[in-house]
Amino acid sequence: RWQQTLLNLQAEYTESQFNTWIKPLSEVIENNQVILIAPNRFILQWVKERYFQRIDELAREQGLDSVILQQKENSTILPENTSPPPDTHSQDTLARTVLQPNPAERSQLNRTFNFDNFVSGKANQLARAAALQVAENPGKAYNPLFVYGGVGLGKTHLIQAIGNNILERNPQAKVRYIHSEKYVSDVVRAYQHKSFDSFKQYYHTLDLLMIDDIQFFGNKTRTQEEFFFAFNALVESHRQIIITCDSFPKEISGMEPRLISRFGWGLTVAIEPPELEMRVAILISKAQKESIILEESVAFFIAKHIRSNVRELEGALKRVVAYARFRNESISVISAREALKDVLALQHRQISIENIQKTVADYYKIKVSDMFSKKRTRNLARPRQMAMALAKEITSLSLPDIGESFGGRDHTTVLHACRKIQELCGSDQTTQRDFEALNSILNG
Ligand code: ADP
Ligand code: MG
Repeated sequence: RWQQTLLNLQAEYTESQFNTWIKPLSEVIENNQVILIAPNRFILQWVKERYFQRIDELAREQGLDSVILQQKENSTILPENTSPPPDTHSQDTLARTVLQPNPAERSQLNRTFNFDNFVSGKANQLARAAALQVAENPGKAYNPLFVYGGVGLGKTHLIQAIGNNILERNPQAKVRYIHSEKYVSDVVRAYQHKSFDSFKQYYHTLDLLMIDDIQFFGNKTRTQEEFFFAFNALVESHRQIIITCDSFPKEISGMEPRLISRFGWGLTVAIEPPELEMRVAILISKAQKESIILEESVAFFIAKHIRSNVRELEGALKRVVAYARFRNESISVISAREALKDVLALQHRQISIENIQKTVADYYKIKVSDMFSKKRTRNLARPRQMAMALAKEITSLSLPDIGESFGGRDHTTVLHACRKIQELCGSDQTTQRDFEALNSILNG
């Protein structure tokens, strides 16, 4: 088993990493426990900081109980006249306690995600309440807890808060957070090394398993099968499972029906995009945490313009703060607008179909409503075609979307308009001039 662990380590790290840091360790195996002995303090320290956690994890996947790292006895060269080294026994116990990764480290959780710094609002109230119940009653409240929602809305934060909370209440709990892509690669490795037994041994004996972004399991049959076994084993023994996904279970593509049905055994909750006031609250809370003074007016300004998700909101706040620091100014709506100029311009372009319709109507001196009307007279039809062609050129909207914005026209009508304008631009100078003029007005 230890040999297998070594092979896995070798596969995971570069040759020089493996040869420099892992190979020099000698091992003693006692009752399913591996004691790794580092030849000197330097290697000990280095391995401890960078490799030990992973070594421990892979060893456990192989069914080994634990790994202990210690320094070779008497390897420290003491200068003469110093006090004798402490007796090896006590050094031993010291090494053991210090160097075994504790359960919290093994869990792979990010300790900064907790319930206190998770701002609640209508968008996540239900998910948060369910998460708290699961943290209080793991394995009993809802199993599995299935949290879904778009990117950057706080799924990972929320489930890690559960994990951290459970570990706080019970530091010995066997908790594991894993992103589903990582789980897939663990399955692949188990395949390569024919080590599914130890894979099972590890995953089937956890107290809490969190799988993040499970949509990545789509079409990965073997992964789904392994996860199916793990799911059954854990739920049967009342161990908690928490899953996140970017969509509702039934909408995950390439997922086995038996898994989809199991996802619904516990509770399925959504996290929605936050509304304006909640976005403001999040900004203010993030600023407070960093001791940044953020006036409400500025928070409202940012929140009004950044609507998609919390991650973008955080990014925007960082830009605003960095910009003001760099210019040595205080944060104001004016400096925020400057700092977010690119983002705002981009957004502007994205919503400009109304803008295009209005600009084109003004240009040809017709009414905006004629853009949507069914009238087909030439003096209306041509400007309408022009506006459609510009919409296709400037926005990222699809042909059906554009048709929809022009009084519910068919996508073939839009296509025809684009072709017609293109053709006229090649043969008719007036059309070409109009097209160029409008393009520059809109992009200016
Ligand atoms: P997801 O996993 O849904 O893509 P994350 O959990 O990674 O989203 O959240 C993105 C960022 O936004 C993280 O930094 C997270 O801390 C923050 N965040 C999301 N929701 C909230 C919230 N309600 N309160 C505070 N921070 C949040
Ligand atoms: Mg996430």
